[in-house]
Amino acid sequence: MTQGFDTTAIHAGASADPATGALQVPIYQTTAYAFRDADHAAALFNLQEVGYIYSRLTNPTVAALQSRVAALEGGAGAVCCSSGHAAQILALFPLMEPGRNIVASTRLYGGSVTQFSHTIRRFGWSATFVDFDDPQALRDAIDDNTRAIFCESISNPGGYVTDIPAVAAIADDAGLPLIVDNTLATPYLCRPIEMGATLVVHSLTKYMTGNGTVTGGVVVDSGKFDWSASDKFPSLSAREPAYHGLKFHETFGNLAFTFHGIAIGLRDLGMTMNPQGAHYTLMGIETLGLRMQRHCENALKVAKWLEKDPRVETVTYAGLDSSPWKATADRLYPKGVGGLFTFAIKGGYESAVKLVGGLDLFSHVANLGDARSLVIHSASTTHRQLTEDQQRAAGAGPEIVRLSVGIEDADDLIADLDQALAKATA
Ligand SMILES: *Cc1c(COP(=O)(O)O)cnc(C)c1O
Repeated sequence: MTQGFDTTAIHAGASADPATGALQVPIYQTTAYAFRDADHAAALFNLQEVGYIYSRLTNPTVAALQSRVAALEGGAGAVCCSSGHAAQILALFPLMEPGRNIVASTRLYGGSVTQFSHTIRRFGWSATFVDFDDPQALRDAIDDNTRAIFCESISNPGGYVTDIPAVAAIADDAGLPLIVDNTLATPYLCRPIEMGATLVVHSLTKYMTGNGTVTGGVVVDSGKFDWSASDKFPSLSAREPAYHGLKFHETFGNLAFTFHGIAIGLRDLGMTMNPQGAHYTLMGIETLGLRMQRHCENALKVAKWLEKDPRVETVTYAGLDSSPWKATADRLYPKGVGGLFTFAIKGGYESAVKLVGGLDLFSHVANLGDARSLVIHSASTTHRQLTEDQQRAAGAGPEIVRLSVGIEDADDLIADLDQALAKATA
């Protein structure tokens, strides 16, 4: 990124449409693309020439978004897909085989914990969860079958922050790629590749689009990992029978992972992003810097106000002086720590449920990263099936309320919380 963040967010990947001059990236709502002739078609199918064949693999609107996100993250390339969860599978797919495992942080989005602890087992993959604040525990969890390390930069639901350079150093020593889910931080607050990450994944559904209109995901490759340094990653280093024995790393160099993600991942797994979704996300990213700044300012104001309120027990925001993650946040996330955190209300389950019901501006939904403020009481919704002990371990005890602070006027958000707290604790 030679230009500034906001310039890149508006311009990268886009130029006036060659056919019409349209300035905003058009929605190329097409399934297929005309071949010039039989030789052109053959060259495209052999990966000897780069171009458009079929929108399950590539589409110009989606390609513009891929270039923009790759530029913002400082990656060599990016592959968009249908959701954040699809991105996690797309990132792991070239690295894994039956019997292989990943080592993942315990502090992850709830859906990722489920994906990694249950669903990936159907592929013969598994995950070991450890506390990434404990470097020795992380080192000890890595074994001969480990193929990736996985964490979030800023993590759900408490807004904790990960010391990515420390984790990257451990991954490096083990000769393994580090995958960072950068959904909550976005490249505005954190650029994991600069801190040593190999791959970055996003749910574009959240802050990147920023208005709750799209489900999308992306895998960004740093282009820096040497897939041929060991025999651990044969999908990238060995001959690929589906492409006449082509070796992805040898042929495509620092774009090996990106080409593999399209030519094998999207081609055969089919979790493609649609061009209309890509268009909305491109527009959302234009204002990412402005929005993230406001999300951070508002979240800090709201967190500070809540922390002083006698009706509130604790607040988890890493931007507060009281947070055990404040020092890491100041060192690695100097622009702020995002818009998501939890707090504990006095009066337990009953007060928490009343608070959620009493809020007017905060919408009660299972989403985050929207321009509007959102709230959820996990114990009565997303974590309802768990025992109280399990809920507490997940940071979702009965008295815990999660806020995704939007970009409205902070005073209005505080006034809304004030009146709802009064009703909830009366
Ligand atoms: C939402 C979310 C996901 C999953 O993304 P989807 O687009 O909902 O599939 C993954 N990680 C984090 C941190 C999230 O917030």
